[in-house]
Amino acid sequence: MKIASSPNKGSLEVICGPMFSGKSEELIRRIKRAQLAKLSVVVFKHRFDNRSTLQHVRSHDGRLSPAHAVDNPQQFFDYVTSTTLVVAIDEIQFFSNDIVPIVCQLIDSGKRVIVSGLDLDFKNNPFGCMPLLLAIADHVTKLKAICMDCGSEAQCTQRLVNGNPARYDDPLILVGAQEQYQARCRNCHSIGI
Ligand SMILES: [Zn+2]
Repeated sequence: MKIASSPNKGSLEVICGPMFSGKSEELIRRIKRAQLAKLSVVVFKHRFDNRSTLQHVRSHDGRLSPAHAVDNPQQFFDYVTSTTLVVAIDEIQFFSNDIVPIVCQLIDSGKRVIVSGLDLDFKNNPFGCMPLLLAIADHVTKLKAICMDCGSEAQCTQRLVNGNPARYDDPLILVGAQEQYQARCRNCHSIGI
């Protein structure tokens, strides 16, 4: 179902940064503040995210917010109604570019849309739909983590496979390998060869 356009347009807030930078924590903080203001909030996450049960957004510090897990952004319209004022989406980088016109439609119908996601993948390339969403955004919050090697501010996500930097062409799913992700600064981030 489509939602009617509104004379009062909404807005888009993008919270981005590497892993362990507190993106979900910041998203949950904004959700809780909207709920305190008695605004009607609907929360989504991608169904691929298995960090917690399908019905919650979970930050690394353990905070929870109930969420609908969907794999197709068209399913947003099963839950978003004319009375919804705020739409929050966690781990948005997992969605394809198909989500961009859906986000634009939500903004057009007057919703305040708040999304969080990784802006860069482990190769330090822009991640999926994020560059487009960052261009459309009214407000961008770029969070930093702490580099696990040197303690500087970190904007990169280091992928390690069996303790070594992942290679450029390593598949995203490696059966039987020990995988780990760390926040790293630019100097300490590396790609295996
Ligand atoms: Zn470093």
